[in-house]
Amino acid sequence: MKLLLVLSLILTAALLFVSFAGAAELAPNELGRIMILEYHKIDYPEERWTRTPENFRRDLETLYAKGYRLINLGDLLDRRIVLPAGTTPVVLTFDDSSPGQFRYLEKNGTLEIDPKCGVGILEAFFKEHPDFGRGGTFYVLPGASPPNRLFNQPALEGKKLQFLASHGYEIGNHTLWHANLAKYPEATVRAQVADAQVWIQRHVPDYKTRTLALPHGVYPSDVNWVLRGSAKGTTYTHDAVLMVAGGAAPSPYSRSFDPIRLPRIQAVERDLAYWLTYFDKNPLERFVSDGDPNSVTVPTAQRERLRDEFKAKRVVER
Ligand SMILES: [Zn+2]
Repeated sequence: MKLLLVLSLILTAALLFVSFAGAAELAPNELGRIMILEYHKIDYPEERWTRTPENFRRDLETLYAKGYRLINLGDLLDRRIVLPAGTTPVVLTFDDSSPGQFRYLEKNGTLEIDPKCGVGILEAFFKEHPDFGRGGTFYVLPGASPPNRLFNQPALEGKKLQFLASHGYEIGNHTLWHANLAKYPEATVRAQVADAQVWIQRHVPDYKTRTLALPHGVYPSDVNWVLRGSAKGTTYTHDAVLMVAGGAAPSPYSRSFDPIRLPRIQAVERDLAYWLTYFDKNPLERFVSDGDPNSVTVPTAQRERLRDEFKAKRVVER
């Protein structure tokens, strides 16, 4: 009890410091929750499904200042969270391959990434803040009608997908053209998923999408249809299925982590502000790295929430 009291005093002090400094030493808790943010359009004006370039940039600044650091979804699924002690992982996702997410501009005969598109803003931010990390998963639509077909510059589709694949981003499966998977029989669902991968592979040979974001957040009759299988001679395997809502995700070390039902937070002003404030006010709920990828640090009182397979790992209780 005495230890708990001391801990809570330390945390109260830490919390006070957070309010002054924006980011502070938080005690490690690798059973805390992780935000998987979900962006749609990066464009004007700010709307329900649109974040302006300025607001997107501001989101990155806020996350950075509050001690959040980028990891890719694949690293989360692999529990490969290599971050400095006291920081919190955050995952970025971008749905529907709309033009403002990734645009090239021609300048004096050469192609440059538009500094006001999503990828342009990310690249500039990474350069200025190398310790923020790098990442982001783009759930693209290879067969949708314009403007959602692979970012809407037909001649540059391949260049963009190759850039993403070779610069630390991930390309995710969002079906071929955003099919509502509840409406279709097994064969159609499988074809939608397999074709999306085949069409991506036209530009990035051998690229396998590892995760799938459900169009409209709607599951097919049987989730196994999107998890693994083959259609039209191509094989696909997905390790995670992402929903369109649901709040912060459980820690991948926790029993409640379910990669087939991964919740996300829609990155719009109200929801983002809600969750950032929530973690400011409830720092014990937040995943905080211990700085050592080979150990899992958990509060003693929560040890039972740890998945069995990690009890054999070096568990540091505090
Ligand atoms: Zn979508």
